[in-house]
Amino acid sequence: MDQLEGVLDGQKIAYFSMEIGLNNEIPTYNGGLGVLAGDTIRSSTDLNVPLVGVTLISKKGYFRQKLDEAGRQTEHPEDWDPNRYMKMLSTHVSVNIGGREVKIGAWLYENKSPTGLKVPVILLDTDLEVNDPQDREITHHLYGGDQVYRLKQEIVLGMGGVRMLDALGFNIRKYHMNEGHSSLLTIELLNRDGMNSKKVKQLCVFTTHTPVEAGHDKFSFDIVDQLITDEEIQRLLRKYGGKDWKLNMTLLGLNLSNFINGVAKRHRDISAEMFPGYKIEAITNGVHSYTWTCQCFRELYDRYIPGWANEPELLVRVHGITDSEIWNTHMKAKKQLIDYVNRLKNTDLDYDSLTLGFARRSTGYKRPKFIFQDIKRLKRINSKGRIQIIFAGKAHPRDHEGKKLIEEIFKHIKELENEIKIVYLENYDMELASKITSGVDVWLNTPQRPLEASGTSGMKAAHNGVVNFSVLAGWWIEGCIEGVTGWSIGPHPSEDWSPEETETLEKDDFYNKLEYVIIPTYYQARNRWIRIMNNSIGMIAYYFNSHRMVHHYVTNAYL
Ligand SMILES: *Cc1c(COP(=O)(O)O)cnc(C)c1O
Repeated sequence: MDQLEGVLDGQKIAYFSMEIGLNNEIPTYNGGLGVLAGDTIRSSTDLNVPLVGVTLISKKGYFRQKLDEAGRQTEHPEDWDPNRYMKMLSTHVSVNIGGREVKIGAWLYENKSPTGLKVPVILLDTDLEVNDPQDREITHHLYGGDQVYRLKQEIVLGMGGVRMLDALGFNIRKYHMNEGHSSLLTIELLNRDGMNSKKVKQLCVFTTHTPVEAGHDKFSFDIVDQLITDEEIQRLLRKYGGKDWKLNMTLLGLNLSNFINGVAKRHRDISAEMFPGYKIEAITNGVHSYTWTCQCFRELYDRYIPGWANEPELLVRVHGITDSEIWNTHMKAKKQLIDYVNRLKNTDLDYDSLTLGFARRSTGYKRPKFIFQDIKRLKRINSKGRIQIIFAGKAHPRDHEGKKLIEEIFKHIKELENEIKIVYLENYDMELASKITSGVDVWLNTPQRPLEASGTSGMKAAHNGVVNFSVLAGWWIEGCIEGVTGWSIGPHPSEDWSPEETETLEKDDFYNKLEYVIIPTYYQARNRWIRIMNNSIGMIAYYFNSHRMVHHYVTNAYL
């Protein structure tokens, strides 16, 4: 097929993900999971790993966030035109949903490396004239709609995805499920391979990202049977994914994969407790070094550490860069961010104050209001050493708590307006993430344990010499060397405290370190501060990148 010239050569790893952050203009991602998928595609391209991505076209995107003066969020469709970035292939496949044949088309996006290497991504699309109007919308809204809508999407992604790869002529050696949304691919493979579960298991790799039982993707069998009417498949779904009268997509993936992993070492341990009897490995997440390093630092690394972008472990040689170069480069990135914010919000943030960044999905467990727990103390700390804070983050349209948290932050911003400069930026996306994680001084992360499986934004910060100050959760348990690579907030998870005690310890530790360690180091011991910036690059970024992560997937899971 000439449309796929060069793309089909050899055996490939099929990487399935409900969302993939291909670039900032293609809004087919929501947050961490999609950005990780995008970074996986980017690193695989650079490293010439024979991968093909499979996802949905999400023609209406996730959503564009608007915030009014009280911080009330409204969601607006993010229509985009796939023709600008990819081409429609002529191949069609179909899946049966609720007794109707739903036709699926495919777009081909090619991710390219600077050296000309390519990784194809197939984006499935049901918006075809032959389809019933309601079926045309299946691939419109990322994480939109109800359970029925979601399961339809998962049928298209899992079953439709396998059929599409077959129809296009791909030769697949492994199917990698990035989270349970694509687990139905196992059933499709079972059917195709004449019910040989051993063969299917050898083909499948499953990555779980969810550290709590309630977070796993589940569907009542009422809904399942309504949409999947084939009785043999219904039986298989109960056999491999049935639990508590529901179809559990994680369980389905676990039962039919020989390689299973969590996304940080601690997350592996938690997953092993949640799913006793399964062998679960750890492959800690990473970020794509070149993508998440700002232009000023790229130029600095190019001068001192040529080859760093395709071999980020070379960043260990950052110790050869002088303090003043690191600092001046950081100040350039910081100025760019501050100027951008001041223009956008008509504020007067300054270049010299210690600037904290907090940007991520607005949801309860991320605890975005953490720093406002003791306003009096925060004011006192600010009078000893000035701080300013930059927030951003979208709440999922149905996450009412997450939306309320944004409104409450807006109240605090107002309340503190004459003392501490705080801004909340609209519509957090990859571009904004890149600006904030490279332009602040301190990257703050305060998730409630153990709900953060890994987290990746702190790794982006480290690539730009931005210092992490975070609860010991996810990847930071592996990255933090106290006072050397950054600072922790609260106790180590190996210590035996109740959730309430942990919360108090975290709160006290946060204010104490900010007041007695972080502010004094920043304002009075700049050389020690720069040492920590330097270590963030040489001891964090050199390891917590997606080149290292993809190497681990290749040697542990794909080969
Ligand atoms: C990196 C990134 C995330 C993940 O952030 P965490 O704080 O690690 O959860 C989410 N959203 C966007 C837009 C990102 O770029």
